[in-house]
Amino acid sequence: MAKTYSNKINKIRSFALALVFIGVIVMYGGIFFRDNPIIMLIFISLGMLSILFSMVVYFWIGMLSTRAVVVTCPNCEKPTKVLGRVDMCMHCREPLTLDPDLDGKEFDENYNKKKKQSAEQ
Ligand SMILES: [Zn+2]
Repeated sequence: MAKTYSNKINKIRSFALALVFIGVIVMYGGIFFRDNPIIMLIFISLGMLSILFSMVVYFWIGMLSTRAVVVTCPNCEKPTKVLGRVDMCMHCREPLTLDPDLDGKEFDENYNKKKKQSAEQ
């Protein structure tokens, strides 16, 4: 089964951007219910909530970015941010790892989840 991976920070950023668009579309949808102020208000509130949530997500990205390690990608030689144990290059999708034990192994996002277990061993 082929899975597509992408850089985590990029993934979260596109999620936050999608939330902004959803919020705008929902608020715009409220215009169609002009005759019913209550429904219009619900739509606008939902849209604003979505945009507010995206701001929270953007803030979260900012926090994550400070924790991410900046490395130079060995494949495209551009600087990229690695979050967690394994991540992908933002530019060329080259799998990158910060753990020398995983070097050369097949890319698997599960390595991030197994972090605690392997630390105990
Ligand atoms: Zn790269």
